[in-house]
Amino acid sequence: MSNSFLTTPTPKNEPVKSYAPKSAEKKEVKAMLKKLKKQKRDIPMFIGGKRVTTKSKVAIHPPHELKHTLGHYNKGTKKHVNDAIKAALAAKESWAATPWQDRAAIFLRAADLLCGPYRARMNAATMLGQSKNIYQAEIDAVCEMADFFRFNVQYMTDMYAMQPESVDGIWNTLEYRPLEGFIFALTPFNFTSIAANLNAAPAMLGNVCVWKPSETQIYSAEVIMEIFEEAGLPPGVINLVYVSGPTAGEVIFNHPDFAGLHFTGSSGVFNHLWKTIGNNLPTYKSYPRIVGETGGKDFVIAHPSANATEVAVALTRGAFEFQGQKCSAASRAYVPKSLWSAVKKKMAADLKTIKTGTVEDFTNFVNAVIDEKAFDKITSYIKAVKKDKGAKIVLGGKYSKSKGYFIEPTVIEASDPKYTTMCTELFGPVLTIHVYEDKDWSKTLKLVDQTSPYALTGAVFSNDRAATLEANYALRNAAGNYYINDKPTGAVVGQQPFGGARASGTNDKAGSILNLFRWVSARTMKENFVPPRDYRYPFLGEK
Ligand code: NAD
Repeated sequence: MSNSFLTTPTPKNEPVKSYAPKSAEKKEVKAMLKKLKKQKRDIPMFIGGKRVTTKSKVAIHPPHELKHTLGHYNKGTKKHVNDAIKAALAAKESWAATPWQDRAAIFLRAADLLCGPYRARMNAATMLGQSKNIYQAEIDAVCEMADFFRFNVQYMTDMYAMQPESVDGIWNTLEYRPLEGFIFALTPFNFTSIAANLNAAPAMLGNVCVWKPSETQIYSAEVIMEIFEEAGLPPGVINLVYVSGPTAGEVIFNHPDFAGLHFTGSSGVFNHLWKTIGNNLPTYKSYPRIVGETGGKDFVIAHPSANATEVAVALTRGAFEFQGQKCSAASRAYVPKSLWSAVKKKMAADLKTIKTGTVEDFTNFVNAVIDEKAFDKITSYIKAVKKDKGAKIVLGGKYSKSKGYFIEPTVIEASDPKYTTMCTELFGPVLTIHVYEDKDWSKTLKLVDQTSPYALTGAVFSNDRAATLEANYALRNAAGNYYINDKPTGAVVGQQPFGGARASGTNDKAGSILNLFRWVSARTMKENFVPPRDYRYPFLGEK
């Protein structure tokens, strides 16, 4: 073991490659897409370092090409969840005792493997399995994931360096212990990087994990596990199982060693999990840590001084990239009457140029939504608008699930600012706009603050500093990530720590030191160099 006070490499954001015509990276990822499409992968669970298959095979299809089969995953049962817990607990002692610099080295290596030899495969798997275009895959599954690993190494050392004061004769220290028991990482479909990080962040600090991904992210989850393995993560530290949410929950939330939930997903599911954990509290050896980043109904509000073109571009990118399936996606906007026709004209012109289709054709900006359930939910709202008073479709509105789950980028204009699509998270390529009277700017800020239960992201567009200041103050609790003259999506690790409040989660800011604090249980140690040898204090003497 090294006896030096090591410094870790200074993290830098992984540069996003361009995938421009004729670039080496474009050639490589295109070849990988072809290669993966020729295979039929049999994707195992990873339990205690072993690849586990079952007789229950579930087919995986690209959301944009339903007739193609990418392979199958092996569905597990309660037994596999129990095995994963046992494997995690068996790995715990030696992993927790592994020096921090060696834990750091594993994740730094994972980042370099990801950005090097695994880059094309990770991108191609995310593109095919989750229907992301190359640019969306690159910023998520490669750059953000690598940033999570590298920046968290820095934050881990920053945290470990935080030590209490000591006075003469006394040495006070804090030891940042991993939690007793195991962590349950329960991850969403929409970001491959989040799926990796919900495991990696606690594991880096010496914790062990049971990971249940979304069924629709399993195709890229396999690649994550292969990278962890090649980077040298010991067997059992992260165990990946494919079971339904309730099956996992039934075993995990009844286990005495359950020590923490690291969740990203919808608010409804999180509320249910929190209640279950509360009800089972007497079962657990410790109070479990509960971290959940959940839904959003993210806003853009434009002031009459804003530039209409800038507002329109932010709305098109913010609402429709990755088919609006980002927790941060702009899904409600407030545009002043004086700007609306210019904003609408620019959006209409831009949307006409947007192509929708498969991920292999790089000219497609929009691909498919994740599955039939999502398609049916989103389109039911579009259908309803066609009948409802108080709202109308002004752009887009078409959809089809014959070849894949395709929904055209759709803009709804709602005269009723509390119309259902102004308040409810649809998680698809649908943006609802309320046009307000210019004189009602201050009133509209209140409306923005009070319209939805969420508080994840939001943006103000204004070229009037007093108006910007007014918005910043009025909306201080309406978003955990707030943007001025920028779209509300695209947070970068190390630059804009991410997370929201109210119904959007516990706001523990993934990819920041704040998140890491949740996965340690500090032990305070006081050492007395010369202990007293007489119990009497001076005040006992009278003379
Ligand atoms: P989801 O809530 O449907 O699923 C999340 C995970 O929970 C999945 O693994 C799912 O299988 C599991 N699950 C579902 N029901 C369960 C149950 N009863 N018991 C145990 N596990 C259960 O979310 P999703 O559709 O995968 O992702 C989209 C949601 O995630 C959106 O609401 C989005 O806003 C949110 N999200 C939030 C952030 C953030 O940082 N705030 C980031 C990404 C996604």
